[in-house]
Amino acid sequence: MMGVLVVGTVTLDTVETPQKRVEDVLGGSGTYAAVAASFFGNPVRLIGVVGTDFPQEYTDFLQIRSIDLEGLTRVENGKTFRWGGKYAEDFNVRDTLFTELNVVTDFHPVLPDAYKETPYLFLANDPPQLQLSIIEQASNPKLVVCDTMDFWIHEEREALEKTIERVDILILNDSEAKLLTGESNLLNAARAILRKGPQRVIIKKGEHGAISITESSFFSAPAYPLTSVVDPTGAGDSFAGGFMGYLASVGDVSEGSIRKAMMYGTVVASFNIEDFSINRQKSVQFDEIEARYRELQDAMRF
Ligand code: AMP
Repeated sequence: MMGVLVVGTVTLDTVETPQKRVEDVLGGSGTYAAVAASFFGNPVRLIGVVGTDFPQEYTDFLQIRSIDLEGLTRVENGKTFRWGGKYAEDFNVRDTLFTELNVVTDFHPVLPDAYKETPYLFLANDPPQLQLSIIEQASNPKLVVCDTMDFWIHEEREALEKTIERVDILILNDSEAKLLTGESNLLNAARAILRKGPQRVIIKKGEHGAISITESSFFSAPAYPLTSVVDPTGAGDSFAGGFMGYLASVGDVSEGSIRKAMMYGTVVASFNIEDFSINRQKSVQFDEIEARYRELQDAMRF
């Protein structure tokens, strides 16, 4: 069985939508990605850090999903990463209200021996230096995929550029691709990213889906059509986690598998946004994932 190693934040989020406000709910790039990857039946390992304020029920949930937590460090008297965000009426605009890195600032993880040979490595949003140190500790992974966001492009551009050089696939949002490259045309932005090192770039466009670009290929995946958006937080991480989970389950990274993986990622993300935090994922069954996947297959046939 091909495992997935997820490195990312495990956080307490405060999220405000026009309908509701929730405080200190389970979030984080690592959490969303690991939970998404866990639907595909492969071992999922999570590297992250929390403080003593991190509720046991959240750890229990991750364990129930069979996520291996040997790499989840709990810092005595430390405070968990906290993030706050607020959505506008149409959910396309999100303001970050606060980002408190807390225990993430001094986190220098050492990969447990059992994790080193994990073939599928996903570096979810995290400080780029930390992402790079994981790449350096991993032994010969089959696929290294990295996500980043505006915060790190602004704060740690130099380190981020070094990390990007070492990854096979970079995943990011449309606005972030433009910010990273200074290009206003998305395809030009993608080409500029390919020149930085990755063989492929996947650009997420929220409710407009995602595109994948290499030197010689282009693929466009629609988003799953949803009318019941409750909270889009973590949709990008869920997309990436589902993407990795599927690839690991087939053990193949061909263009065909990458495209299918993007569609599975899209479907897992669609469930994520139907509720706050990871609440919707608690009840999703794999046959529901398959049903939406087939709907998308049908919607793309012409
Ligand atoms: P997304 O909606 O895909 O951008 O992911 C949001 C999740 O990422 C939230 O659960 C946040 O706690 C977490 N997050 C927010 N800012 C950062 C950051 N700078 N680095 C890592 N994770 C973050």
